[in-house]
Amino acid sequence: MIGLLRKQVHLRTNDLKPHYDVVIIGGGGHGLAAAYYLARVHGVRDVAVLERSYIGAGGTGRNTTIVRSNYKTPETIAFYKKSHQMFLELGQELDYNMLVTPRGLLWLAHSDNQLRLQRERAALNQAFDVETVFLDAAGVREVCPQLDMTGGGGKHPILGAAWHPKGCITRHDAVVWGYAAASQRLGVHVHQGIEVTGISTEGGRCVGVTTTAGPIAAGVVMSAVGGYVSNVARMAKIRLPIITHPLQAYVTESYKPAFDRVVASADLHIYISQSARGEFLIGAEIDPYTSYANASTWPFIASASARAIDLLPFLAKLRILRAWTGACDMSPDYSPVMGTTELKNFYVSTGWGTWGFKAIPASGLSMAELLATGKVPALIAPFRADRFRDDRAISERASAGTH
Ligand SMILES: Cc1cc2nc3c(=O)[nH]c(=O)nc-3n(C[C@H](O)[C@H](O)[C@H](O)COP(=O)(O)OP(=O)(O)OC[C@H]3O[C@@H](n4cnc5c(N)ncnc54)[C@H](O)[C@@H]3O)c2cc1C
Repeated sequence: MIGLLRKQVHLRTNDLKPHYDVVIIGGGGHGLAAAYYLARVHGVRDVAVLERSYIGAGGTGRNTTIVRSNYKTPETIAFYKKSHQMFLELGQELDYNMLVTPRGLLWLAHSDNQLRLQRERAALNQAFDVETVFLDAAGVREVCPQLDMTGGGGKHPILGAAWHPKGCITRHDAVVWGYAAASQRLGVHVHQGIEVTGISTEGGRCVGVTTTAGPIAAGVVMSAVGGYVSNVARMAKIRLPIITHPLQAYVTESYKPAFDRVVASADLHIYISQSARGEFLIGAEIDPYTSYANASTWPFIASASARAIDLLPFLAKLRILRAWTGACDMSPDYSPVMGTTELKNFYVSTGWGTWGFKAIPASGLSMAELLATGKVPALIAPFRADRFRDDRAISERASAGTH
C-alpha cells in the first residue's frame, strides 16, 4: 500500500520556466524517453517536454504495439535488438505495468521470392544473435493452427514463414505514462497544451523556442514530433529527408482470447493480432499519398479485411468496433534519422515511420547520451541525417510491419 501511495502516476502541473538546459518538442514516446534517460542516466534534470496536445496524442498512442527485432540490416538489427531487450525490462525500470504480452511473430511466405527472403531474414537474424527461424508449411501450421494454409481457397497458399518467437505486444499508453511519470519523479517538467511555434537562433545556433505560452530559452533543443517534423524543420530552416504519410489500423469488438500470435504477410501487406483486451487488430501499409489527415477510410477497411479473411477465415464473423489513423514520418530508406542537424544545438529524432514504437527505449537512451555529452553513440551513428549525401542509406524494408 505504501508503495502504491509513493508511486506518482498522475502528471503534476509545473510552472513554465523562461529557461531550461534542454527543451524537447513533442510528448510522444521518443521525446519522453529522452527526457527520462537525461535525468536518470546523466543527471540532467532541468528538462522540459513541450506537448501541444496531450502526451501520447501522436503515433505513440495510435500504434499497433508490436515489439520485435527481426530486422534485415546489421545496423538496424543491433539497434532494435537493444530496444527489444529494454522493452522487456521497462515495466521494472519505470515501475509501471507495461502489459508486455509474448506473442511470437510469423512472417508468412506465399511465393518463392518470399520463401527466399524469409530464409534470408532468419539467417541474418541468427548471425546477430536474434532468435528467428525459418519454418516450412508444416511448421507454420503447428505454430498457428488457425491459419487457412490455402490462403483463401488457393489464392495465397502459405509455403513457409520466418518465426520470431520473442516478438511481443505491449500497452502503448503505459509506455507514454510510464516515461512521463518517471521523468517527473526525477524533476523533468512535462507541459501539455503548449505548442512550439518557432525555433530561436543566434549566430547560427539554436538558443530556444517560441511557443503559444511565450518564448523559452534553452541550451539545446530536440525535436521529437513524429509525423509533424517537416513543420518544425521549416521553423529551424533546415531540410530533412522526411515525408509524411497516413497509416490506418482498426480493431474488432472484444472476443475471448484465442489467438496468441502476430501474423504478417509481405505479399498481402497485412498483419493481424489479438490485443490483451480481446480485440482483433488489423494493420497494413501506409496510404500511398502524403497527408496529415487523421481520417479512416472504408476502402482501406474493406480491402484489408478481405486480405485478412483469406488468412484467418473466422475473422469474417467478427464485428469491427473502431478504426483510427496516424501520421508517419517516412524516411527514404525506411531507417530512422537521429542526431545532429545543420543547426548547432538542434537535434532530431525522426524517420520513425510505421516502425518507431518498438524503438522508443533505445532511441531515448541514445538521444539522451548525445544531448548530455555532445557525442553521437555508436548505436545510432549510422542513422545520421546526412547519410543520403554520402550514399550511406540503410535500406531496411523489414521496418514496415508487412515486409
Ligand atoms: C496505425 C499505426 C500503427 C503503428 N504500429 C506500430 C507498431 O506496431 N510497432 C512500431 O514499432 N511502430 C508502430 N507505429 C509507428 C509508431 O507509432 C511511431 O513511429 C512512434 O510512435 C513515433 O513516436 P514519436 O514519439 O516520434 O512521435 P508521436 O508519438 O507522434 O509524438 C509526437 C508528439 O509531438 C507533438 N507535436 C507535434 N508538433 C508539435 C509542436 N509544434 N509543438 C509541440 N508538440 C508537437 C504531437 O502532438 C505528438 O504528441 C505505428 C503507427 C501508426 C500510426
